[in-house]
Amino acid sequence: MAKKRIARCNFCGRSESEGATLLPSPDGEANICVDCISMAGSMLGMFDGDMDSSANTAGRARAKQRIIHGVSEEEPEKKPIPKPHEIKEFLDQYIIGQDQAKKYLSVAVYNHYKRLDQPVDDDGVEIEKSNIIMVGPTGTGKTLIAKTIARILDVPFTIVDATVLTQAGYVGEDIESLLTRLLQVADYDVERAQRGIVFIDEIDKIARKGDNPSITRDVGGEGVQQGLLKLLEGSIVNVPPQGGRKHPEQPMIAVDTKDILFICGGAFEGIEQAIAHRLNSSFVGFSTDAATRRIERDRFMSHVAPQDLRTFGLIPEIIGRLPILTHLLPLDRDALRRILTEPKNAITKQYEKLFAMDGKKLVFLPEALDFIVDKAIEFKLGARGLRSIVETIMMNPMYDMPSGTDTEFTVTAEFCARQLEEAHFDAQAV
Ligand code: ADP
Repeated sequence: MAKKRIARCNFCGRSESEGATLLPSPDGEANICVDCISMAGSMLGMFDGDMDSSANTAGRARAKQRIIHGVSEEEPEKKPIPKPHEIKEFLDQYIIGQDQAKKYLSVAVYNHYKRLDQPVDDDGVEIEKSNIIMVGPTGTGKTLIAKTIARILDVPFTIVDATVLTQAGYVGEDIESLLTRLLQVADYDVERAQRGIVFIDEIDKIARKGDNPSITRDVGGEGVQQGLLKLLEGSIVNVPPQGGRKHPEQPMIAVDTKDILFICGGAFEGIEQAIAHRLNSSFVGFSTDAATRRIERDRFMSHVAPQDLRTFGLIPEIIGRLPILTHLLPLDRDALRRILTEPKNAITKQYEKLFAMDGKKLVFLPEALDFIVDKAIEFKLGARGLRSIVETIMMNPMYDMPSGTDTEFTVTAEFCARQLEEAHFDAQAV
């Protein structure tokens, strides 16, 4: 005689003898228990807050998805947090030099995620958040480091420009709107967004002008800093889902910023003078000799301290909320040369790949690479300029090679010079 099949909940697997009250499907093929129904109901209810309707629908769809796939009671499998050495090694594949910044960020990010996982003990020890500030000239890799870190960690990440933010009531975007982007990249999953990373670029542009409060104060800058402070400290912020200005009729999404990691970056142009002054040393920043000037600047930059940020015009409360301070150095000739070829997605590698896709070989001679670096330095374009120079040089071969019969193309210094000249690159760049 065939054995009678024991009815079980198709979600949690329990039978009635194990305490489940079962509800069969209309065709009698499947069952669900009352507990699973109630859990599913509460998951859908989670999205009934004050979200706008599109976010609500998306949230519901995701919750349903999770229930359908039978993982409703568990979080999606967590990736192990990479250790600082692993983070740094990953960064090394994409970012040339800037060792101190890479190391500091690796540690800070690792600790941040450990903090999110910290057990609720009654030992009274609570690991506090450590937001980060990176000081260094423009185009030296601040954004690239933040972006690359976000990649390895698989968390929502967004870049916002501090210059578009204004104090409430002024023309511009409300401070809260910087969380809008984070919500958008997290697909309006508030929980995910609350563990994300926000990179605030050009933080130096909202500095007060000058350290002396008696001279003209830049109230706008200070007001924005006060607003930002609220976010950095960790608070519940009402975020406009579509960004821009808040409107009374627009529904808001409540976001808790206590676990969001803020990484700030700024060029802080001229901060070397403040450092030199603090160190009671003279700064030969006006030296006509470029090499001396660079050595001097590098020497001082590596001593940057919180009080220099204060002298520059950041309010002490903000500085206090950015406890990890690191610096990036200007990129010298050697670094620029390495950036052309070494990073995992180095620009020359990208062109070689484009050619390979047409079955052609592309070779950059070392003399061509040197030439490109020389031009980037000559036009003061830094690392950002490398791409535009290479783009200009490669335009004609990219146009001709796919239809030609040649299977190999060699880029020489002479070819580079001719291409830039023909494209009037000098005139464009300066
Ligand atoms: P910043 O944020 O400091 O102004 P970015 O990180 O945006 O500068 O750098 C601009 C571009 O220059 C990057 O996208 C990258 O292509 C290149 N770059 C800058 N610094 C580095 C570096 N240290 N290593 C590799 N590439 C770099």
